[in-house]
Amino acid sequence: MRRFEELNRFCYTVSPRYTHHEIPSQISVALFFNRLRKDGDNSIPEESMPSSKTRVAIVGGGVAGLIVARHVASKPDTYSLTLFEQTDQVGGTWVYTDETDIDKHGLPVHSSMYKNLRTNLPKEIMQIPDFPMTDPNSPSFAHHSVIRQYLWDYAEHFNLYPHIKLNTVVKNVEPETLKNGQTIWIIKYKDLENEVETTKTFDAVVLCNGHHTVGHVPHIPGIDSFHGTCIHSHRYRAPETYTGKKVCILGASWSGIDIAIEVSEYAEQVYLSHNLPDPINAKFTKNIDQRPGIQSIQGNVFTFLDGTTAEVDSFIFCTGYKFTYPFMSSKVELRTDDNHVEPIYKHLVHITMPNLFVMGIPVLIIPFPMFHIQAQYILGILEGRIKLPSPKEMLQDFETEKNTLLQQGIPLRHIIKLKERQWTYYDEIAAAANVPSFPPVIKKIYDHVSEMRDIDFISYKNYQYRIIDDENFTVSFRDIFLAPCY
Ligand SMILES: Cc1cc2nc3c(=O)[nH]c(=O)nc-3n(C[C@H](O)[C@H](O)[C@H](O)COP(=O)(O)OP(=O)(O)OC[C@H]3O[C@@H](n4cnc5c(N)ncnc54)[C@H](O)[C@@H]3O)c2cc1C
Repeated sequence: MRRFEELNRFCYTVSPRYTHHEIPSQISVALFFNRLRKDGDNSIPEESMPSSKTRVAIVGGGVAGLIVARHVASKPDTYSLTLFEQTDQVGGTWVYTDETDIDKHGLPVHSSMYKNLRTNLPKEIMQIPDFPMTDPNSPSFAHHSVIRQYLWDYAEHFNLYPHIKLNTVVKNVEPETLKNGQTIWIIKYKDLENEVETTKTFDAVVLCNGHHTVGHVPHIPGIDSFHGTCIHSHRYRAPETYTGKKVCILGASWSGIDIAIEVSEYAEQVYLSHNLPDPINAKFTKNIDQRPGIQSIQGNVFTFLDGTTAEVDSFIFCTGYKFTYPFMSSKVELRTDDNHVEPIYKHLVHITMPNLFVMGIPVLIIPFPMFHIQAQYILGILEGRIKLPSPKEMLQDFETEKNTLLQQGIPLRHIIKLKERQWTYYDEIAAAANVPSFPPVIKKIYDHVSEMRDIDFISYKNYQYRIIDDENFTVSFRDIFLAPCY
């Protein structure tokens, strides 16, 4: 009994709002027992304690998982960490493979990189703030292999490998509510090398499984009658495949345009079909023809929404991706309808189980530095430095933001595109975590890149940026061929 009174008192110190039944994280219970031990109370048998350290599980070893791991691992007295990665490398989608279907373990290939891909953000703003890319003369828009190597260096530099289980797939994440009302997490994972399944308990879980693997494929009337090759961009690797073909690319997001440009060097004709209000500004070659969305398909004849038709041999869906959490217990009620992940506070924290975190939700952002701030926000919550509102208040906040955007005419599936909203988001969570947000120069470069991309999609990656200080940067145009380096 004395313990629970003390636990309540401790919880009050962590956050006056909570009793031990309400405090939003099992972490605090671990911290509580830890403190009793430090206070010299050795009467508590170790095995009956939840854990002397907060046990954090990270699902996925892409950049998001690595960044969270780097921050968690920096406090070895507070946390014990396990990062599960199903492939044999860290780096996630940046680990290019020629394979497109299944990997050596029989799992769907994770990476969506294509052979010639160069980043769509310059390294000067894309890099992780505490681990700058060192070579100032290397191209700002790097080949994907440079990013993969950078992430491997990051993992080495911060000594993350001792915490990482490679070739280990998370099969199931199950919450369990303890008698005291706390939620702990039971994770079932499988070592893919020896097929052994293990179950382990954690105090907090961070989902970093990525969302650029399972393609969103809209239904098009008559698609079944098309007998040419048809893939989602997840499986696109190299333009040579399309030599001499008539290719239709549906979707003009950055990947769609990028793929259209490189395929046009080999294809006879490229139809770039999209529903953007205006044509894309780019000095396209003559064999790229912009068309509106596709109305229907009959055999190899595509009919577009303006009534025009075209004969097509190969079809590439560049229509985006879906959020999927196949390992997650239904008890968590994580919903992904219309590409909107719910119920999540600040694009990160599960509202009713706030020791579950979901990384990687926002898009049209600067991912690596955003993960860097989000990771520290997570630690702030786990350590009680950030006091979350009650679940009811978090839900209200979430619903208000969602409804405001819906009323502005933004469809549900586009709410995650932060774009102009990204800057206040970074500032808000950075302030809560008491860490620096982005200096103004980052937004200035981002805006310059967007402007150059809008002027000409073909040449914007030839600019070379250099940061001078928190406010200023220089930019020059490199009119040279940038050979990929593998
Ligand atoms: C074609 C393309 C181009 C892009 N270009 C840029 C760019 O130029 N700049 C930029 O900043 N961003 C770019 N992005 C966005 C990119 O997705 C993010 O930068 C970032 O890599 C996302 O990292 P992540 O860790 O969230 O996910 P991922 O990199 O996808 O990593 C997820 C990891 O989780 C693992 N995993 C999944 N499920 C399980 C499981 N059940 N058990 C264990 N492990 C699991 C996967 O194997 C993978 O390693 C691009 C994305 C794509 C697809």
